[in-house]
Amino acid sequence: MTPKSSTLENKKGAGQAKSNGGFLHETPLLDRLETGPWPSFITGFKELANRTHSTMLRGVLDQLEYSYETKTGYWKGGTVGVRGYGAGIIARFSVISNKFPEAAEFHTLRVQPAPGLHYTSKSLRDMCDVWEKHGSGVIALHGQSGDIMLQGITQAKTQECFDELNKLGWDLGGAGPTLRTSASCVGPARCEQACYDTLGVHHKLLTHFVDLTHRPSLPYKFKFKFSGCPNDCTNSIMRSDVAVIGTWRGDIDIDQAEVGKYVDQLGSDYIQNSVVALCPTKAIRLKGREIEIDNRDCVRCMHCINALTKALSPGGDRGVTILVGGKGHLKVGNMLGSMIVPFMKLETDEDLEKLVDFGTRMIEWWADNALDHERIGETIERVGMQAFLDGMGIEPTIDMVEAPRDNPFFKATY
Ligand code: SF4
Ligand code: SF4
Repeated sequence: MTPKSSTLENKKGAGQAKSNGGFLHETPLLDRLETGPWPSFITGFKELANRTHSTMLRGVLDQLEYSYETKTGYWKGGTVGVRGYGAGIIARFSVISNKFPEAAEFHTLRVQPAPGLHYTSKSLRDMCDVWEKHGSGVIALHGQSGDIMLQGITQAKTQECFDELNKLGWDLGGAGPTLRTSASCVGPARCEQACYDTLGVHHKLLTHFVDLTHRPSLPYKFKFKFSGCPNDCTNSIMRSDVAVIGTWRGDIDIDQAEVGKYVDQLGSDYIQNSVVALCPTKAIRLKGREIEIDNRDCVRCMHCINALTKALSPGGDRGVTILVGGKGHLKVGNMLGSMIVPFMKLETDEDLEKLVDFGTRMIEWWADNALDHERIGETIERVGMQAFLDGMGIEPTIDMVEAPRDNPFFKATY
């Protein structure tokens, strides 16, 4: 639907607001959010509130309507927790609870997802049953943090709800100045491009650093993300402090028989225009029914491998590249991670221990050097990459240079 046609349909009254069902109060401003072409969270809230007769959701809708009238937000934070945990629950108290007592509290439990977001239907159903018993029933799957967000519970019910979830095997994620919930792509479970076991590595670090996740002791948030190949499906380069991305050394694997099948099916012109011509470093050539790659020029952008699956695959000598310092907004704006470890094998328990040691030393360096509320990328930017590498005992390498110096009069003065 084009924006123009959707506007016309709205004017004609298409997509009318859903009825308030008798249980809810009138919310004319919120109702307008249901009339656009997109699914509306207001419709979801109303349906759930009417079905469960949730006075909490009714109060939240009333307060939101009032917020729209007054153009003011009325939630404030605070501290809500469960025994043994210093983090994992986002507190929301209403500052106008005298006006909307039903919305006095609306706290969120951050629940850690399984690596690669693999669930069974039963595990999700059991979780939903517990949540509907104690909380509002509203779930965001998944929030920006990567967690399952169980939204809307009172302080009085938090402990019992958590205990029941915990018995089912769920645990709280990070919040505040902690090691936050990590994210991993589906990896080798369902993706042929995976260059390492994203799920196993995620699980290893999750369990190793569990104390830092539950007890706020860091300068600010710290996130790991795990992508199985340079496609980076978890957006780790820009959304995590430590991006662990699968890669390979040496040549791309070529199955020329499969290349021939692509040529037969799609035609040489298509492969020439859509694969060969789009290689950013012009490293590929199509010769008849075969492909040649000058692997010295390949920058592992994944384009040809994505386009010709089965025919082309990441090479056999696989491992990871580690980038540090990515983040979104706050102090100095969005930052991409800087490449710190060009290649590292990640197959054996010994390799995993090396990664754990690397992460531990990095968190310690950051905790020693960061200002309050400063992500590690910001600390590195403030004190300099050289100081970070010295602190970590890492030798600078040519692989860390993004672009050669092009001004002969400029000289770095570290
Ligand atoms: Fe597959 Fe790579 Fe995406 Fe992971 S990052 S799901 S390995 S394409
Ligand atoms: Fe070119 Fe990218 Fe394929 Fe490497 S992965 S050969 S850079 S298209």
